[in-house]
Amino acid sequence: MQIRLAADLQEDSIVDGKGIRTVIWTQGCSHNCPYCHNPKTHDFNGGELVEVEDIIERLEELNGQDGITFSGGDPMFQAKPCAILAKKSHELGFDVWAYTGFTFEELLEKGNSDVLDFLSNIDVLVDGRFEIDKKSMDLEFRGSSNQRVIDVPKSLEHHEVILFNLSEKTFAKQRREALYI
Ligand code: SF4
Repeated sequence: MQIRLAADLQEDSIVDGKGIRTVIWTQGCSHNCPYCHNPKTHDFNGGELVEVEDIIERLEELNGQDGITFSGGDPMFQAKPCAILAKKSHELGFDVWAYTGFTFEELLEKGNSDVLDFLSNIDVLVDGRFEIDKKSMDLEFRGSSNQRVIDVPKSLEHHEVILFNLSEKTFAKQRREALYI
């Protein structure tokens, strides 16, 4: 299986979720948010097609990373390969964040099995379109105040949006500590 990426994997990011993260930049987005920070990622034929297996090999070789973040573009347009990569990321002990222009509710309403599979392998989802009139530099890990940092496992369990507690330890750190106790 292949996935269309906007750029090479980016290691050591500290702005795309909690901890030190590797970002998978997916290509393709049709939300057209005015003043989007990354318009080059919109074209669904842009970027480069990459084998998912090749990305998995890269993930297996990562060092010093707490988690993996899917950004773009909008990774929900390529939910099937993203779900495979998210699952693998968890197996490797990384926590998984994802950014999407859809709201959490819109994703559930779609009822698309690949999207639901991807969602079930995401720990934290930053949802919603970027809205310039709600932009603030004071917001952590999101561009505008309409966007939410969502605890996905809890939200799926309780059938309502539950926000992620940003003061919690990263999932990867919790897992590492559990392994060494
Ligand atoms: S969802 Fe993200 S990538 Fe897509 S247009 Fe909006 S800000 Fe840009």
